[in-house]
Amino acid sequence: MLNLQSMGLMEFFFGKKFPFKFVYSDDYWMVDLGKHVFLVKKYRMIYEKLLAMGAKRENFLEPRPVGDEDLLLIHTAKYLKKLKAGNLSPSEIQTLELPYSEDLAKFAWLYVGGTILAAEQALKDGLCVHIGGGFHHAFSDHGEGFCVLNDVAVALEKLKEEGKIQKAMVVDCDLHQGNGTAAIFAKKDYVFTFSIHQMDIYPAEKSSSSLDVGLWSGDGDDKYLAALKEHFPRLYRKFRPDLVFYIAGADPLKGDQLGGLAVTKEGLFKRDMIVIEWARRMGIPLVVVFGGGYSPDIRDNVAVHINTIRVMQKIMRKFGGGNAKRVPPPS
Ligand SMILES: [Zn+2]
Repeated sequence: MLNLQSMGLMEFFFGKKFPFKFVYSDDYWMVDLGKHVFLVKKYRMIYEKLLAMGAKRENFLEPRPVGDEDLLLIHTAKYLKKLKAGNLSPSEIQTLELPYSEDLAKFAWLYVGGTILAAEQALKDGLCVHIGGGFHHAFSDHGEGFCVLNDVAVALEKLKEEGKIQKAMVVDCDLHQGNGTAAIFAKKDYVFTFSIHQMDIYPAEKSSSSLDVGLWSGDGDDKYLAALKEHFPRLYRKFRPDLVFYIAGADPLKGDQLGGLAVTKEGLFKRDMIVIEWARRMGIPLVVVFGGGYSPDIRDNVAVHINTIRVMQKIMRKFGGGNAKRVPPPS
């Protein structure tokens, strides 16, 4: 007999509150970056907000640090050795724009493990979110712009190597261009890299993605969403990836300290709907990583990331997880 009490009445009638997993570690916000615009405490704040929204312990998966053999799929042995030994040159540290410490290296190893775990889980459930990750400025042989290791690139290559996916797409909606990821996959035709970003900011020199959409300071919601709709679901239909890595950056938000795209929270909610809903409708597993976000009030960034999770909830309720119904995409 069905035990309604143990199943939870709410769950029985309305479905699971969070029909997907969160990958998160408390170690993410323990790394000390000193006074820095990149505030790792946002990870903890998102975690706490999720608990307040009714998430349970079983909704969270704890990542483990990535193994060096996996990192070597993307990163050079020389760079990894320098990171471990702590002998990056002053100019390398300047390019990285983060103070080096042993804890920083540990943080990087752990967040790559987190994105791998989230990507594997997305293949099982249809959607998964890593409360972290999205360090898209990291190149094979060096780090840049707060990014030590390229978690998305390593996870993608590992799944490909293991035969779990044949083709993947990176949908990079962080404010900044995904230069590291674009460079890493430049010659690999089983990866489609898409980046929509602000042109007149870092990185000054942009690598070529499979498709780059450059916007300008002050463009706002209408231009941003129109540019995105021009390519989605078109690109999903054309490339048919086995997995999408979605970098749901919070830094296109109006008032961000590092940029000026001036997209509103509502605009970013619509962005998430476009990217995630179409993947789900077409039965393409998608993993969310969070990327950047540098609002003067960190709560605004947390709200943007929580909205992404609300979009996931909404879409999962509508289209389900696992082997989602494949609806024919409109022409
Ligand atoms: Zn960014």
